[in-house]
Amino acid sequence: MRWRTLVASALLLVTAAACGPGKVSPTDSLVARASATDHLTIGIRFDAPGLSERTVDGRFVGFDVDVATFVASELGVAAKDITWRETTSATRETDLTSGAVDLVVATYSITDKRKQLVSFAGPYFTTGQDLLVRRTSPDITGPETLNGRRLCSVTGSTPAEQVRDRFAQAVQLVEYPRYPDCVTALLAGQIDAMTTDGVILAGYVTRDPELLKVVGKPFSKESYGVGLRKGDTQGVNAVDDAIRKMISSGEWLRSLNANIGPSGYQLPAPPEVTEK
Ligand code: GLU
Repeated sequence: MRWRTLVASALLLVTAAACGPGKVSPTDSLVARASATDHLTIGIRFDAPGLSERTVDGRFVGFDVDVATFVASELGVAAKDITWRETTSATRETDLTSGAVDLVVATYSITDKRKQLVSFAGPYFTTGQDLLVRRTSPDITGPETLNGRRLCSVTGSTPAEQVRDRFAQAVQLVEYPRYPDCVTALLAGQIDAMTTDGVILAGYVTRDPELLKVVGKPFSKESYGVGLRKGDTQGVNAVDDAIRKMISSGEWLRSLNANIGPSGYQLPAPPEVTEK
């Protein structure tokens, strides 16, 4: 009998703790969740040099990491209380809708299709889709020169979708889950070019500057937003305010100069954080 009483009391304690102060439901605004738990789980890429990368000693560095850290701090969450979780191009929406992450800061273009599933704050950066080629391929000068060639991109990304819509007849599209897989295939001569946002491609050139180059003729406009659970207007407003503050305080430019500057990528002007 006694052990049953003990188990029942323990269960009561656990239930009380789960419902007590500091606990929030997954449908609460990001703002309420951040202030109640002092913790955020943020989805980022682990493999985009200059933007967001996991170092060999387990740290996370890059412009997206700085944006995420700034936003978290404005929501009252210290850098040490952020859990970084890898998200890939194809999993960003489900990572948000399943509640696996609170926020996505991962080279995430704001699109109407994605807005059906998630909400966006921002934009916080603008770039354009471009091509990465081997230095030994001077004849690839734009998407119109890809006739009959193999082009690599990542499943779930806007560049892969755009290529399918605009150049599908001419190009043989090869899709991988992650961009470094495309870079490896390009270096090995298995594909002829790779496409994604210019700022991402610039980061890969810094790794192999003697072998790779960006064509440098962007053919889309990508506006990066911070992804939140759909309908969290309070969260969107709070993240918008944080992005505006990051830009006006000079921290936005400092981070870009430090993280993207070394690649030589021409930095754009700060975007206007608008109604989405
Ligand atoms: N910004 C584009 C996108 O959101 C391409 C980069 C990526 O795959 O994350 O799809």
